[in-house]
This record gives sequence, structure tokens and C-alpha cells, in this order.
Amino acid sequence: GSKGIKAIVLDPAGTKNREPQNAEQFRAANQAFAAGLKSHPVTGQGLPQYGTTVLMNILNEAGGLPTNNFSVGRFEGHDQISGETMAATILERGGQPTHGCHRGCGIRCSGIYVDKEGQYLSKAPEYETIWSHGAHCGISDLDAIVLMDRLEDDYGFDTIDMGVAIGLAMQAGVIPYGDAQAAINLIHEAGRGTPLGRIIGAGAATVGRCYGLERVPVVKGQALPAYDPRAVKGVGVTYATTTQGADHTAGYAVAPNILGIGGKSDPLKAEGQVEISRNLQIATAALDSTGFCLFVAFCILDQPETFQAMIDVINGMYGLNMTADDVMELGKNILRQEREFNRKAGFGPAADRLPMFFSREALAPHGTRFDITDEELDEVHNY
Ligand code: SF4
Repeated sequence: GSKGIKAIVLDPAGTKNREPQNAEQFRAANQAFAAGLKSHPVTGQGLPQYGTTVLMNILNEAGGLPTNNFSVGRFEGHDQISGETMAATILERGGQPTHGCHRGCGIRCSGIYVDKEGQYLSKAPEYETIWSHGAHCGISDLDAIVLMDRLEDDYGFDTIDMGVAIGLAMQAGVIPYGDAQAAINLIHEAGRGTPLGRIIGAGAATVGRCYGLERVPVVKGQALPAYDPRAVKGVGVTYATTTQGADHTAGYAVAPNILGIGGKSDPLKAEGQVEISRNLQIATAALDSTGFCLFVAFCILDQPETFQAMIDVINGMYGLNMTADDVMELGKNILRQEREFNRKAGFGPAADRLPMFFSREALAPHGTRFDITDEELDEVHNY
């Protein structure tokens, strides 16, 4: 950057851990919280066993797995890039199917992926990364996808936006769909900063503009991730209206729409999706501000006692008396500030929209379009 800073190193010598204000409350709540995480099928079994890529087969079955740049909702190579296949491959080669990305994690959704010789290739990538280089690009070679994840980590590219950019280059005819080696070459071009690489490396929105494409899956300049908003409409509302571009994590309506977590709703229907997205965006803003990993949400949405335990952990740590209502108020306050920041930066209601093709083009296999109106989208942040 302009200051020439390469790294900031903190020396922990002479410091000590922060002590909870109410140690007894903190310890008891922490135990209840950890036990709650263990007892939920997603945080206790699905995520530790398969990682987030457990979603690949689920989204394919739901017809919401964006394939060949959002042209269809199912990918014939889904099984080759699924969480089940990845976990089996890691085990067979002597990698590590589950580990925590920090030592305090009680879920441990991550893993270590090794190559055919048993050498480290990359961490087990997230579902969205496997999707962006996989189904989105028509690629079903898992080793090649994991290599792309590693290269992008090394070069410093975002693995969702870069994968989507590569798929757009395929749509534009720069390289063919399904060509893993050509995709790898594009990443190296971007890393080296060649003329073509500078376009690809500038991200999906820029690739779409440079090649004059109409089907460009971005909101506020950020690429959509691995859930087609025509088949998972709640997350489509989140993509359109979250303050930070098409971010699924900002209001993960996939949970109630597809997984039946935190209630069950029809992913193909418009009804109720605004409210679902609104509540999730508020809760997520609050959760993100605490430093808890977002994946605890799978559990706390289903188990009120674990949600309460999480609040008690915070209360015990800081000597507070927050209630569930206070947490939601915290989330609203954060979102109001973020939206005010956006407004001053020139992002008004017109930026809270999905690209037009989602309402024009029907998505197979369900033949659905994104049919939530602009007026309804403008209601999301009314609270
Ligand atoms: S902290 Fe979150 S992302 Fe990291 S391993 Fe644990 S559950 Fe996964």
C-alpha cells in the first residue's frame, strides 16, 4: 500500500489473556454452547465430516447449483466435486479430513487436501470455491480445482470472484467451458499481470464489461456465489440488498429455504422471502460483530437454548445483561450504519437489485425466474 507496510507483527511477550468479567457465568455458558454445537446435525456431524462442500449434492438436487455461468441449475459432474468425494479422497491419500482453522473451534469444518503423492496441495476449499471453479466453469476435476484454490491464495485473489471471472471468460469464448488447464493458465496470467490477466484479475464485473456480456452475475460489483437466486429466492433477496454486494453469508436464507434450518420455506416461491432475508441479515450483522464464526448460526437458529448460551458467553465475558432482543437491536444498528455509509458512497436503492437476466431467463430444471419486485426489495431494510 501507500505506506509501504508489508506486515504488522504483534509481540505477545508480557501480555496475558483477557479474563471474563463473570468467570463462573462464562464457563458454564461456554460448556452449554459447545455441547449445543456438538448436538446439532450440521455443526456436530455434517460440517466436521464433509466441510461446507457437503452442500454440492444438496444444491444440485434442489436445482439451485449454478452451472456454466448460471445457465442451468444442475451439473452432471456434481458427484466428482462433492463433499463426500472430497472427504473420501483426503482419507484415501492420508490427508486430514477435519481440522479447525483456529484451535478454539468446536466445529472443525476445515481439512487438509493432499495430492496423489500425499503432499500438501491446499486446505480443503469451501463449497463456494469448489463451485466457482467447478460447476460454474463446467470443471469436474477436483485436484485441478484445489490447485486453483492454492494458486489464488498464493497470488492473493478472492476465490469466488476469480472463479466467476474465469467462467465469464468461458462464456465470452476466451477459453472453453470445462477446460481445467486453460483455467489454471488464466490464473497464472492474472498473477503475472499480462494484458489478458489484468482483465481477469480485475474480477467478474470487469470481465463482463470488457467482453460485453449480458449474463454477468454481480451485485454492487461483487460476484454471486454458489446458489442460484431463481431456485433459492431468499438468498437472492440477500444478494440484492446486503450492503456488501452479493454476499450469501450476510443473510444465509439457504438455511430455511433448502436445509430446513430455522424453519422451512419454499425456495421457489417469492412469498415470505423478504422477511426471511431481513431477519437473517439483522442476526448476522450482530453475530459477525461478536467474532463468533458464522457457522454457529446453523445451530443457534434451531436451538434456542444454544442461542441463549451464546448470549450468556458474551454477557459473562463483558459483564453485560444483553437479551435476545438486544442482540437484534445491535444488528439493526450495524446495518443502519452500513447503509448510511453506502448512501454517502453513492449506493442508493437502484444498487439493491439483481442483474436483469435473473428475472428474464428461466432456470432449468424448475423453470423459475427471480420474481421478487423492486418495491418488495426496498422493504427489506424497513425496521
Ligand atoms: S472457525 Fe468456522 S470456518 Fe474455521 S474451522 Fe471452525 S467452523 Fe470452520
